[in-house]
Amino acid sequence: MVLTVGRHFLQIPGPTNVPDRVLRAIAQPTIDHRGPAFARLAGELLERLKTVFKTAGPVVVYPSSGTGAWEAALVNTLSPGDKVVAFGTGHFSALWCGMAERLGLVVDVVPGDWRHGADPDALADRLTPDVAAVMVVHNETSTGVRSPVAGVRAALDRAGHPALLLVDTISSLGSMDYRHDEWGVDVTVGCSQKGLMLPPGMGFNAVSEKALAHRGRLPRSYWDWEPIIAANRQGFFPYTPPTNLLYGLREALLMLEEEGLDAVFARHDRHAEATRRAVRGWGLEVLCADERAHSSSLTAVLMPDGHDADAARRLMLERYDLSLGTGLGRLAGRVFRIGHLGHFNDLMLAGTLSGVEMGLAAAGVPIKEGGTRAALAYLEGAR
Ligand code: PLP
Repeated sequence: MVLTVGRHFLQIPGPTNVPDRVLRAIAQPTIDHRGPAFARLAGELLERLKTVFKTAGPVVVYPSSGTGAWEAALVNTLSPGDKVVAFGTGHFSALWCGMAERLGLVVDVVPGDWRHGADPDALADRLTPDVAAVMVVHNETSTGVRSPVAGVRAALDRAGHPALLLVDTISSLGSMDYRHDEWGVDVTVGCSQKGLMLPPGMGFNAVSEKALAHRGRLPRSYWDWEPIIAANRQGFFPYTPPTNLLYGLREALLMLEEEGLDAVFARHDRHAEATRRAVRGWGLEVLCADERAHSSSLTAVLMPDGHDADAARRLMLERYDLSLGTGLGRLAGRVFRIGHLGHFNDLMLAGTLSGVEMGLAAAGVPIKEGGTRAALAYLEGAR
């Protein structure tokens, strides 16, 4: 039986814990989405949202999950039969590639071992003149590995290649340093339920001038940026927007502004480092095999051979009401993922790591003692 007293520990790498402030903001009466109060709300939000993406250009908001925003990025910019190069860094990059194929694009996947990020140097041989876009997942939520988006941009520039750069920042936006304009990204895909501390339900496309000018011929209607951006100029949407989530977004942006984005990123870096110290203290292995590529929003932990990660996760849920992320795709059963992003502080990490340490021991996984202690010592030292 799952324990249901006290607070649930929602430590999957998204959806993340929604702050009470945001929940209260969402619990306002829904207003007329064609009236002046809505236009003021949307007008303000569409401007403030830009700061999170670090862009001066438009950010398109969809009532969708991240997958919808992936589709929007592809159908707005590409044409049937276009070739795209994608980095095979994990389960989510594979899903995005599958979508691209189903939409009629030709996908050239740079294979990866799911333990390293994208290698920009691998682009050199692949950037044939017919490549229309390069797709990269900034933070692979299935592996806890970050990819060097600026490095991919530099590789495109070195080759003098005009391909569009499409980036998924779904589990890094608002948690890890990300710079749409500075890194020359053409479409950034984001969504609400991770670093932005909101419930699921909103997808985002930050769009460069080049992407706006380069309209593809793939069929699109609901996802079409043009009518949305045109309506947004007056503070409206061409369909019914998720009014209450937008109230929540206003509060969440305020919280990020109050803390300051750099402090938010530093907090995530610190919790990620503490988590890795706990994992190593337990004598376990972090999946990410590149010191420069660790995610700051989640940590994927490899289980010792012969031990099922999902059995341990189930036990932690039943005993401690702690939800951790499951292993996805080829990592099923082999890893569990600790989400440490969004509305999260030292004691939440301490509680999470304690639950993992107790749960692994209870599941009969051979771990060393003291992992959580090592994390706490780091947290105290790295104030
Ligand atoms: N891309 C990444 C990196 C993700 O982590 C996820 C979901 O976790 C998705 C895409 C898909 O987003 P959604 O489940 O909101 O459709």
